[in-house]
Amino acid sequence: MKLLLTILLTMGIFSSNTWKGYGKDTITLNDGKTLEITFIAHASLMFEYDGNVIYVDPTEQFVKYPERPKADFILVTHTHSDHFDTAAFRKIVKEGTAVFCTDELPPMLEDIQIPDGVRIKPMKNGDETTLTTSVLLKAVPAHNHPMRENFHPAGRDNGYVMNFGGFKVYVAGDTEDIPELSALAKDAVDIAFLPVNQPYTMTVNQAVRAVGMIKPAIFYPYHYGGSGEDTDIEDLKAKLEGSGVEVRVRNME
Ligand code: ZN
Ligand code: ZN
Repeated sequence: MKLLLTILLTMGIFSSNTWKGYGKDTITLNDGKTLEITFIAHASLMFEYDGNVIYVDPTEQFVKYPERPKADFILVTHTHSDHFDTAAFRKIVKEGTAVFCTDELPPMLEDIQIPDGVRIKPMKNGDETTLTTSVLLKAVPAHNHPMRENFHPAGRDNGYVMNFGGFKVYVAGDTEDIPELSALAKDAVDIAFLPVNQPYTMTVNQAVRAVGMIKPAIFYPYHYGGSGEDTDIEDLKAKLEGSGVEVRVRNME
């Protein structure tokens, strides 16, 4: 029996092969296509659009990754262990995956086996690129205010704005209510994911200010746990009531 169990486990019979059971939002866009967002944990997300799978900040620090779906694209905001590890990366990478990241990532991949044709593309703040004919990607600044720059110094990390046929999703990475966020208002961001945990990212009041600067249609607080200090999400929701921004709280501690 023990042998049978071992064989079945090895075959993955009892392991989850997809993100079944995880929270997911489906949004129908103006082009008639759907954008699906799977809320994995903390800063880890998965987007599905037009047959493409895009993972953001894969790490097994909080949950084990299934083998599927594999990634067409992987975006990494920075290499802190709550945003990236090679265990999650190895599970989702496939032949031809394109990885968009910061300069710190490539050395972390030197000692692991990567399938053929994987492209690693570091981006700097302000860089733009094309993922597919209908999906554009822009790297934007993500950093702390000067007194906390030991956590996330300016110019090192990226936030990302994904443009799905005109529908823009901003995933901030680890940042604060920095002046550069005002530029995102000009981008007319539809969805913003902003981190709300202390002391590494934002307080509730800072997040409220950041939302005011960006003015997204929908705000998902994310990255609101993992630091030992609880974030009062109900207070955050209350403070944004009447702001015209829809606050969607999902399980992203
Ligand atoms: Zn970080
Ligand atoms: Zn973080």
